[in-house]
Amino acid sequence: MANDSNRFQAIISHCKEYGFIFPSSEIYDGLQAVYDYGQWGSELKRNIRDYWWNSMTRMHENIVGIDAAIFMHPTIWKASGHVDNFNDPMIDNKDSKKRYRVDHLIEGYAEELVSGGRDSEAAALVKSMETLLASDDFGGLKKLIEDHKIKCPISGTSNWTDIRQFNLMFSTEFGSTVSTEDEDNKVYLRPETAQGIFVNFLNVQKTGRMKIPFGIAQVGKAFRNEIVARQFIFRMREFEQMEMQFFIRPGTQQEWYAYWKNERLQWHKSLGIPAEKFRFHDHVKLAHYADAACDIEFEFPIGFKELEGIHSRTDFDLRQHQEFSKKKMQYFDNDTDPSTGKPYGNYIPYVIETSIGLDRMFLAVMSYAYTEEDLSTPEKKDDRVVLKFPARLAPVKLAILPLTKKDGLPEIARGILEDCRSSFYCFYEEKDTIGKRYRRMDALGTPFCVTVDHQTREDNTVTIRHRDSMEQERVSIDQLKAIVTKAII
Ligand code: ATP
Repeated sequence: MANDSNRFQAIISHCKEYGFIFPSSEIYDGLQAVYDYGQWGSELKRNIRDYWWNSMTRMHENIVGIDAAIFMHPTIWKASGHVDNFNDPMIDNKDSKKRYRVDHLIEGYAEELVSGGRDSEAAALVKSMETLLASDDFGGLKKLIEDHKIKCPISGTSNWTDIRQFNLMFSTEFGSTVSTEDEDNKVYLRPETAQGIFVNFLNVQKTGRMKIPFGIAQVGKAFRNEIVARQFIFRMREFEQMEMQFFIRPGTQQEWYAYWKNERLQWHKSLGIPAEKFRFHDHVKLAHYADAACDIEFEFPIGFKELEGIHSRTDFDLRQHQEFSKKKMQYFDNDTDPSTGKPYGNYIPYVIETSIGLDRMFLAVMSYAYTEEDLSTPEKKDDRVVLKFPARLAPVKLAILPLTKKDGLPEIARGILEDCRSSFYCFYEEKDTIGKRYRRMDALGTPFCVTVDHQTREDNTVTIRHRDSMEQERVSIDQLKAIVTKAII
C-alpha cells in the first residue's frame, strides 16, 4: 500500500504540461472526473489500444472484434442486472455533506494504519470489510466504521448517515418528448462494453462461422456515475474499456479461466514492465454473474490497485438475454462428446471475460515510465524528466533535428522525415539548442533522436541518440528506418 502522493502529483502535472492530459472544460473550471487527452496523450492511448486490439484479434485466430453502439435497448440493462444490482454502498458525512463509497472510506483508513506501521490491524480491518460486503451487511459495515472511529477527511468528524445503495448508471431520454418521468423513453449510457458483445453473440457466431471456443473483443466508451472520483484518470465518469468475452463449452470454465489469467499477465509483461509491479487479487464477494473472479492489480503511485478484471461469467448473460428477449441464445456443437460418443448438441455457452480500462492502462504505463534523473556532475547541477515508455507505445518514435537552420541541413532532415513518416510517427524540430530539444523529447518519451550535422553532408551519416542510456552513435541514414522499426515491432 505504498503511497507516494508527491510522485502522483508530479505525474499529473507532467501530463498537463506536456500535452498528454487536460482537465475537461478547463476554462469553465473543469468537470469532475472527466478528462481530455491532448496531442501526445491521444497518440499514447491509441498505441495502447492498438497493441491490445492486435494481440487479441490478430494473434488469436479464434477472436474477432466488433464496435457496438453506446446506446442500447433499455431492457438489456434489466436483463444484465445493472438496473437492480449495479450499486455501490455509500455513506454521507452529515457535517461536510460529502458522500463516500464505503469500501473506499475503509480502505483509505486501512492505508493510514499501514503508514503508521499497524499492518496487521489494517489487514484484519480489510478482511472484516470484505466479509460484511459479501453479505451486504450494511449495519455491520456502519458499526465497523464507528468502532474504528473513521473520520471524514473533510470535516474531521464521525457524524455518519446510514449506508445506502446508489445506482451508478447515467440515463437520458430518447425522442422528442423529453420528460424525465417517462420511463419508456429512458435510455442508459452503457456502464460496460460487454453487453454489446453478448447481444451480438449469435450475429457474429453465424456470420463469422465461429466455432466454440471463440472470443469477441471490443474497445469503447463506458460511463459510470462514480461518487469518489478524485484519483485523476484512475476513476473517471467517462472512460474507455477494452473487453473480450470468450465463449466456451459449459464445464470447461476452470481451465479457460486459468488460461486467460496467465495470458493476460503475459501480455502485461510483454511490454517490459517487471512482474513485481503486478499481482492477482481473488474476489471474495463475487458479482451476481460470476462463479470466479480476480483482478490484476498494478502498483500505481497510489498503491496496488485494480487494473484489469478476469471473470468467469457462467452462462448468466446469454441466459438472461434469452429470457428477456425470448430469442434463443444457443449454439449447436457438433463435436463429439467422448463420454457419450454423440455430439455435444445445443447449449448456451459459458463465458470468460477479460476487462481492462484503457485509461487505467494509460496511467499504469505513464506511472511506470515517469522517471526523474539526477545527472549532476561535480562541475554542474543537472537533471531530467524522462518517460521510459516501451518503444512500441511511445507517441513519437523518431525526432529529426537538424543542428542548424542553414547550410542545407534542414533539407536533409526533411528528406529523412519524408522517408520515415509513413512507417512510424516522426517529429521534426529545428528551434533551440540541441540539448534543449533532446530534453523535450525525453519528456515526451521519444525513444530515438537523430541529429543532422555538417558531417552528414559529407558521408550521409547522422547521430542517433538513445533515450534511456543517452548514448549516441553514428549511423548511416539508410539504416535509420530499420533501427527504429526493430525497436517498435
Ligand atoms: P473498481 O472496483 O475500481 O470500481 P470495477 O471492479 O467496478 O472497478 P469492472 O467493472 O471490473 O471494474 O471494469 C473493468 C475495468 O474497467 C476495471 O478493471 C478498470 O480498469 C476499468 N474501470 C472501471 N471503472 C472505471 C472508472 N470509473 N474509470 C476508469 N476505469 C475504470
